[in-house]
Amino acid sequence: MDLVVTAAKRPEAGETLLGEKFYTSPGGKGANQAVAAARLGAEVHMIGRVGDDEFGSDLLKFLEKENILLNGVEPVTGSASGVAMITLAEGDNSIIVYQGANKETTRDYVRNFESLIAKSDVVITQLEIPIESVEETARLCQKHQTKFILNPAPAADLLVDLLMKTDFITPNHSERETLSKQVDLNKLLDKLIITEGKDGVVYFENEAPRRILSHSVTAVDTTGAGDTFNGAFAYAIGIKKDVETACHFANAAAALSVQKLGAQAGMPTKEEVNEFLR
Ligand code: ATP
Repeated sequence: MDLVVTAAKRPEAGETLLGEKFYTSPGGKGANQAVAAARLGAEVHMIGRVGDDEFGSDLLKFLEKENILLNGVEPVTGSASGVAMITLAEGDNSIIVYQGANKETTRDYVRNFESLIAKSDVVITQLEIPIESVEETARLCQKHQTKFILNPAPAADLLVDLLMKTDFITPNHSERETLSKQVDLNKLLDKLIITEGKDGVVYFENEAPRRILSHSVTAVDTTGAGDTFNGAFAYAIGIKKDVETACHFANAAAALSVQKLGAQAGMPTKEEVNEFLR
């Protein structure tokens, strides 16, 4: 759950300030990407955890309203839900993420959902859960030949072994920088889909970079642009589109999303994307 307060400036250490506005909004990269894919018409199953607090039940209600199937989401007794404390001040945000129940998406927990992973067309994970759970997901996807997309966000230390098990890796510009310090990206070119904000997206064909420009739109709020791109890309790969078509489609979905305030509010339906591309 995102807990957002807006203020004229951010507090110094030891300082207390009066804020201007406060609101909560459902978030988390996995949840956002699930919503993006579900709005486009995908059958989406979420695997993850919430706390047994009020945020947890609110988050489940939000996901249910988006037609996301929740058999893979079990509340953790005695745990708080994951939260992001966001201060919006001076045109920028400062964020503290508390992982809470997300930490309980353990390797063993993921293993409980092997049959779900086996029958899925595509699985996408982010890095807001323990890394060994991401590695287990990669292993299960490989075992069952389920397409596996890794959105390496937020940036973290990753092993080559994990990266080699992916079908696609979708860093943004700064996550790509982090990755390039850990591994030789030349070995991963056929998997890389690099999002570059208003400059669109870059993928590689026969080791040569190909850029698909983003659509020229008036951006009101780019929060969640990356999540919209990832959810839409996963959907397109899930319905067996090729990489170029999937990037085109996801670029359009993300361009629509930045035109509205809020991470999830602007995520489009398939009809809206098709209309936009017509
Ligand atoms: P965020 O953290 O803001 O959710 P991100 O850093 O993960 O985003 P970006 O690379 O900034 O991801 O953006 C993802 C995609 O969203 C881009 O590849 C592009 O398709 C689209 N996009 C982002 N910003 C714009 C913009 N100003 N105009 C049009 N499309 C945009």
